[in-house]
Amino acid sequence: MRIHTLIVDDEVDVETLFRLSFKKWVKANLVKISFATSGIDALGILRMDSNEDIILILTDINMPEMDGIELLKIVRGEFPDIDVFMISAYNDENHINEATDLGIKGYFTKPIEFDKLKHEISILYPMLAS
Ligand SMILES: [Mg+2]
Repeated sequence: MRIHTLIVDDEVDVETLFRLSFKKWVKANLVKISFATSGIDALGILRMDSNEDIILILTDINMPEMDGIELLKIVRGEFPDIDVFMISAYNDENHINEATDLGIKGYFTKPIEFDKLKHEISILYPMLAS
């Protein structure tokens, strides 16, 4: 099984960080990553038939137009089986609490500690633990 992961963040630099951080997993064909720079873009990607294997979403909370919480609510309705982690620019307790009530698997604050993030993802998908 390959973990097709959708990463959503309005800061485009984040893509480079994830590509570097997940390089080993991607190379080993354990993970495939797709990127979206907005909630609308993310929904477009999720709704494509070719992306029905996306099983994990890592989304920023603070984004213009549609924030991560709004995206999460829609994902919960349309794709209830997808695991979601939230990424917040600061320790945004109200949003984190709301997201937790909506069943997220966890959250991270920026700057992202990638070792910690990868560890938590490995707990969810033991095939990624090395
Ligand atoms: Mg943002």
